[in-house]
Amino acid sequence: MSRIGAIEAGGTKMVLAVGTEDGDILERTAFPTTDPASSIARMVEWFSGRSIDALGVGAFGPTCVNPSDASFGYVLETPKVAWRHVDFRGALAADLNVPVGYDTDVNAACLGEATYGAGKGLDCLVYVTVGTGIGAGVLVDGKLLHGMLHAEAGHIPVTRMEGDGLPSVCPYHPSCLEGLASGPSIESRWGRPAADLEGRDDVWELEAAYLAQGLATYVLCYAPRRIVLGGGVMSQLQLFPLIRAGMSSILAGYVRTPEIEDLDTYIVPSGCAGDQGILGALELGRRALRGD
Ligand code: ADP
Ligand code: ZN
Repeated sequence: MSRIGAIEAGGTKMVLAVGTEDGDILERTAFPTTDPASSIARMVEWFSGRSIDALGVGAFGPTCVNPSDASFGYVLETPKVAWRHVDFRGALAADLNVPVGYDTDVNAACLGEATYGAGKGLDCLVYVTVGTGIGAGVLVDGKLLHGMLHAEAGHIPVTRMEGDGLPSVCPYHPSCLEGLASGPSIESRWGRPAADLEGRDDVWELEAAYLAQGLATYVLCYAPRRIVLGGGVMSQLQLFPLIRAGMSSILAGYVRTPEIEDLDTYIVPSGCAGDQGILGALELGRRALRGD
């Protein structure tokens, strides 16, 4: 059985694992993300002693994920200045000398859910993370979606709910989903971290109203067979019934499929217990090894 390496490369920490092609994680470690040269050297050192046959990377963005592009695997215009224009994938592939599968962190998480989690076996799936930012990973016909860049579905415009005058936390858009419904926007609107607002119905009703708008758009544009929601904010499970009802009201009966008829199984929490990113990276590595 082949041994696959996996990296969940985040802006604040790197999670590394070695696992099997069946998704069993054999070993894992994590360390803080520092400058690119030291971070890459540390990852290479850890994997070097562990005889991996392939590697999968789910990387923080923005990063080029289109295999046909000359900058495939490069980090792009990130606020983390030292990482700009670093050939992240190329450096790992050269030093470890194994096939390297590479995608965004949120696409990797989508693949993790589709392979091992709440979307297991589905060929069309959307995974949405609601945390420090909002992002969506999209699987279509079994393949992760890549266009001219990773789709930025967290920044779709939303209609402001009545009475909500919160300045958007997105520096680009006055009323995008991330600007009005990410963890930091909840904190800025209500003056306390989202985790401390658990019993406040008004907080979660407003949050669900925005997320419902986002999900209705994803249903209409991607026609996924299911939508999985993860990220820190979604640990507030009371959001799920509110989002289902809100999305149903926005779609207004226009989309009629067996999946949409059963919203409790259509809009669901992660099934990977926090491991969707690293399991997706493992699957990216397996696919790179098998040429899938
Ligand atoms: P990141 O998006 O940075 O990868 P997370 O998915 O953990 O990380 O998201 C962090 C955000 O989630 C923060 O804005 C935080 O306020 C929010 N958050 C964390 N835990 C909870 C919780 N229990 N309830 C609501 N929001 C939470
Ligand atoms: Zn935005």
